[in-house]
Amino acid sequence: MSTPSFEIIVVGGGPAGVSCAYSLAKMGKKVVILDKKKQDQIGNKTCGDALDLESPMILHDALGLELPKGDEISDKVTKMTVKTDSVDITLRAPGYTVDRHIYGQRLLKECLDLGVELISDAPVRDVIIENNFVTGVKYRKDGEIKEVRANLIADCSGTLGAVRKHLPEGFSDGLYQTIPDHHIAATFREIVKLKEDHPYSEEIVLAYFPSIPPPGYLWFFTKGEKRLNIGTGWLKSENKLLEKPMKQIYREALDEYYKLGEDYEIEITGGGQIPIRPPYDCLTFNGGVIIGDAACQVDPTTAEGHGPALVCGYYAAKAMVKAIHDDNFTREKLWDYNIDVMAHYGRRNAISYVTLQFLREIEADGMDFILKRKVLTEDEVKSVYDGSDPDTGFFAVLLKVIRCFPKYGLLRSMYKLVSNVKKMGSIYDDYPNNPVDLPAWRLRRNELLGEAL
Ligand SMILES: Cc1cc2nc3c(=O)[nH]c(=O)nc-3n(C[C@H](O)[C@H](O)[C@H](O)COP(=O)(O)OP(=O)(O)OC[C@H]3O[C@@H](n4cnc5c(N)ncnc54)[C@H](O)[C@@H]3O)c2cc1C
Repeated sequence: MSTPSFEIIVVGGGPAGVSCAYSLAKMGKKVVILDKKKQDQIGNKTCGDALDLESPMILHDALGLELPKGDEISDKVTKMTVKTDSVDITLRAPGYTVDRHIYGQRLLKECLDLGVELISDAPVRDVIIENNFVTGVKYRKDGEIKEVRANLIADCSGTLGAVRKHLPEGFSDGLYQTIPDHHIAATFREIVKLKEDHPYSEEIVLAYFPSIPPPGYLWFFTKGEKRLNIGTGWLKSENKLLEKPMKQIYREALDEYYKLGEDYEIEITGGGQIPIRPPYDCLTFNGGVIIGDAACQVDPTTAEGHGPALVCGYYAAKAMVKAIHDDNFTREKLWDYNIDVMAHYGRRNAISYVTLQFLREIEADGMDFILKRKVLTEDEVKSVYDGSDPDTGFFAVLLKVIRCFPKYGLLRSMYKLVSNVKKMGSIYDDYPNNPVDLPAWRLRRNELLGEAL
């Protein structure tokens, strides 16, 4: 093997990549980021822009990375409203909507200031595997294919997984090359400028309407005075079953609120793909890790992936520093990263995945009925959205039976949800601390889901 030029190659300079590179550089490691975008475009992404407060706070407390500030923030967020045709339930949700481009550029600069090198305008095209370890990547730059090597590689390249997709099938049990369409949300969103101010100050809204294919919704996120980020999304696998294209369904649903031309003009428009399944069961391989959307760390119900990508970049950096210290780059040695992710986002997102199946089953009308009749309390709706275990005592159950009359099918679906959420939480609490026990654990999880993930 030739001598590596860097200790770690980070592929992708989005939230996962900059967080990972920043954390590694803070811990004294020699890092290079490769991104297919030109340097001044890194961070610019079609996105909902909502960022919870907790995630950047974790990096702030651990590494001193400054929280979003100044023009990086479009608006402060204090609440999230779940809306149906006849009911609004508002939950506390501290965070921001950020300007992804400005915030992303600042995080990149923080990396460069710490000595991280950047090779931009350089799409990664392949991996180099030697003696069953990934030891480098091949990328295109100035019309030529070039190579760079390191002790470890971090795939932070988003949903398509520029490194992940080149790993041979079975290279690391629990990690797959592609994400099937039924585990991807296709999305469309616009940043709009309104003629009048909007009623969503400091608020993000998820609106479940019958015209939006379940479990999708229309979102309205504040971008400050007279500006909104509005979008929609649903399972990519549903698209071919629909009679109208997504953009038309979106425009017709939005017409109920705002009319194009009369009430608003479009500033930016675009779409994207979001993985919506629990994280891959193993995020480490001989010679590296995968982080962020490449690792499916997005919350399946709310599509929040920015915060998880930031935090998991830090989790991965800690495990990589240990591996470099011990000069051992095996997937087993990096296993602490799996443990950190599964305890946090694995547990939460698996519960959220169960919720997503429930929302798909009951459709928007079922959701409206449940909220209108107060079959689910506000605390229970909150637990559905933050992935915690809902509490259901005897009297609460009795009340639900009365309130659900005559739609007992919905009640059955709800109890299946509550029971599966509790079981799923305890399965993720038992995530194995070594790769040997992974197949038995996966079997238990898949049996509960009734689906092989
Ligand atoms: C429409 C939409 C709305 C969303 N709304 C929200 C929201 O409101 N809140 C939230 O938290 N999340 C939201 N998300 C999800 C969020 O955008 C992602 O979870 C987050 O960006 C993941 O960060 P990442 O670093 O893993 O990937 P990305 O942000 O996708 O970054 C990947 C980076 O890798 C680079 N790259 C890709 N391929 C290669 C290659 N071959 N070689 C080199 N570089 C490469 C890209 O240029 C990019 O810089 C939304 C997503 C979409 C599509």
